[in-house]
Amino acid sequence: MDASKFDQEPVTEESLLENGYRKYVGKDVDIYYNKDICAHIGNCVRGNPEIFEVGRRPWIIADNGPAENAVQVVNTCPSGALKYIRK
Ligand code: SF4
Repeated sequence: MDASKFDQEPVTEESLLENGYRKYVGKDVDIYYNKDICAHIGNCVRGNPEIFEVGRRPWIIADNGPAENAVQVVNTCPSGALKYIRK
């Protein structure tokens, strides 16, 4: 899944925030997460436990890995709960 899009259209920060996503700021990429959509399948924490750590606050630290890897992992989210916007 291309997590930089919603229905084939590039996501915007405005649309994500309006749709209940929270923003986790990074230097090269911002990650957005919607807990109401999350299916708790765990691809994110298995994909990069440095960026995604459920027991931590904030649980997402976008800069805890290369932006390219963050994007790859976000794209494995099957539910659409994770999105990203590159800067
Ligand atoms: S990969 Fe997506 S659906 Fe699965 S736990 Fe992470 S955020 Fe939730």
